[in-house]
Amino acid sequence: MRSRLGDDIDDFCVKCKRVMNHLVVSLLNDEPAKVRCRTCHGDHDFRHEQAPPPKIDARKAALIQAALDKAAAAASDGAPVDGAPVDEMSAAPLPAETPVEVPAPVAARVSARKSARAK
Ligand SMILES: [Zn+2]
Repeated sequence: MRSRLGDDIDDFCVKCKRVMNHLVVSLLNDEPAKVRCRTCHGDHDFRHEQAPPPKIDARKAALIQAALDKAAAAASDGAPVDGAPVDEMSAAPLPAETPVEVPAPVAARVSARKSARAK
């Protein structure tokens, strides 16, 4: 069945958010390429009556993931306790700070040897 310009065709309209009556306004290989919604008169690519996949931007996805993590943590703890997560966070930075102090005595020994040789 070939479509022609001006044909009525059912397609999903993103503005009406449902399958609506459309008008074929552009053809590609005898297939509707673009259609115009008869209800809101918006032009868009022919979608074969398929709703577009929901687009979630990265920031929203991160927020959703964080909310899911919180919900999962609360569910595993049974009840949300304020004390437990705070202890975890205060303990975390300590191991990262310790290696910074190590090179200081080594540098002192090296400079001591150099000054000893110079004499
Ligand atoms: Zn529409």
